[in-house]
Amino acid sequence: MDFLDPKIITFSEEFSSPESKVLQDLNRETNAKVLMPRMLSGHLQGRILSMLSHMIRPHKILEIGTYTGYSAICMAEGLAEDGHLYTIDINDELAPLVHQSIVKAEMEKKITTHYGNAIELIPTISGPFDLVFIDADKINYSNYYDLVIDKVKKGGFIIADNVLWSGKVLQEENKMDSDTKALLTFNRKIKTDERVEKVLLPVRDGLFIMRKV
Ligand code: SAH
Ligand code: CA
Repeated sequence: MDFLDPKIITFSEEFSSPESKVLQDLNRETNAKVLMPRMLSGHLQGRILSMLSHMIRPHKILEIGTYTGYSAICMAEGLAEDGHLYTIDINDELAPLVHQSIVKAEMEKKITTHYGNAIELIPTISGPFDLVFIDADKINYSNYYDLVIDKVKKGGFIIADNVLWSGKVLQEENKMDSDTKALLTFNRKIKTDERVEKVLLPVRDGLFIMRKV
């Protein structure tokens, strides 16, 4: 399910800042060479993440789910002067492409990549974080949230992507696949968690934005 008319999305992209050359190349290369290129954030969501990061001006960002590095570069654009982004992915086959793009974006000093299972790696990366982006395997969203919540600063943000899962969260529960069920469970957990203020933006595939109170 596309939530917005593709023409409206194209229009919105035309009126938003363009992708940098590095991001445009990374977008193209991911589509040409990597499995499941739909996972890449893309032009509009990339600009949204960059804008949000500029608004927050984070000192420390944690990203769970690097893929080809597109969203990491977008969020790193908004880092404070001395800020740093740590990003985790289980798939180290993507490391050369990620590294190449980080170098092209001149962000080697701002971005650190970690390869391995996020469940094991999150506890090894010290906070506190001003911004956490949850975008890895959907089954573990609730676990990732539990692992990061105490490491997010008061007033800091957590953003979780794909929480509408192409609209599948509206399906009857007994017909849901395990990813959809996990995302619904995650959304319910956030809804009732008083540690965070939240807004679920029906943008692209659903962006859940939370602020730790
Ligand atoms: N944030 C990226 C897209 C991430 S796609 C962007 O917006 O462009 C999801 C990624 O999560 C994939 O690259 C996948 O390898 C990774 N992933 C899946 N399970 C994981 C796990 N258990 N630990 C760490 N990364 C995982
Ligand atoms: Ca995503």
